[in-house]
Amino acid sequence: MYGDYVPYALLYLMGKIAIVLEKQKGIDVMDLGIKGKTAIVCAASKGLGLGCAEGLAKAGVNLVICARTKGPLDEAAEKLRTYGVDVTAVACDITTDAGRTAVLDAAGHVDILVTNAGGPPPGHWSDWEREDFIKAMDANMLTPIALMKAVLPGMIEQGWGRVVNITSQSVKGPIGILGLSNTARTGLTGYVAGTSRDVAKHGVAINNLLPGIHATDRAVSLDSGNAKAKNLSMEEVKAERCATIPAGRYGTASEFGATCAFMCSQHVGYMIGQNVLLDGGATVSTM
Ligand code: NAD
Repeated sequence: MYGDYVPYALLYLMGKIAIVLEKQKGIDVMDLGIKGKTAIVCAASKGLGLGCAEGLAKAGVNLVICARTKGPLDEAAEKLRTYGVDVTAVACDITTDAGRTAVLDAAGHVDILVTNAGGPPPGHWSDWEREDFIKAMDANMLTPIALMKAVLPGMIEQGWGRVVNITSQSVKGPIGILGLSNTARTGLTGYVAGTSRDVAKHGVAINNLLPGIHATDRAVSLDSGNAKAKNLSMEEVKAERCATIPAGRYGTASEFGATCAFMCSQHVGYMIGQNVLLDGGATVSTM
């Protein structure tokens, strides 16, 4: 009779062990005050989205995660459950109406929203047509806006909510070959600048998290394009890139996720409409 509970007990135990191991590594787990809340984390089977989901799971947040491919998404969900939280995995394309409806329906009540989707491909300004811009804006501007529009009324009603949009360092300093990204994400940033100030009085904090180069599949794909174009090895391209980053390395999904979790915490009620840059110092500016 008690046999049914064994897998759950094991998962709970593994989560506790993970937290103890983290503490032993000298990393204290700060109380973010969001244990038991429910978060949607989009595009979270790997990379930065998974990093954010993991950061929130460590803080005791129950999750609804999505990505297009079921296999890797289910694997990610299994890993996240080891932190002792509930995880619902919805295999869908978040840039479609059907995908967004499936994720929102699965979550029901939403306290925290982390928006994310794949980034547009690199290219040259002379090649991009209207359709390319529409695709980029659908994924990286209109999808996060639609999700915010859907969850904000509930957050306002309960007097508490957190939204973190994963955008890009390209919002602070444009990257020539990523013009589609520059364009779509800057549009989202403008929307957030206004909307965040409108909803702040209801205890809802909307902010953006801007990744510089991080060691994920997206970085590998950009690096391999670069390597081909310059006839260099992947190591040479990576070394060239690291030389432009004051921190001297690529960021990790785990440190990105920890920052995201903090931006979803009780501690950021006074952080409104900000663009938090995580780029190892690569973008040179005084403010
Ligand atoms: P990644 O390729 O490692 O992971 C992308 C994740 O998104 C995967 O889980 C994939 O399944 C999911 N996904 C992609 N399109 C989706 C869709 N339409 N619907 C549902 N799920 C979808 O990418 P990443 O490095 O984690 O990047 C995340 C975002 O951050 C991207 O928009 C990227 O352009 C941006 N970004 C990344 C970097 C970096 O260095 N990694 C730098 C700047 C900006």
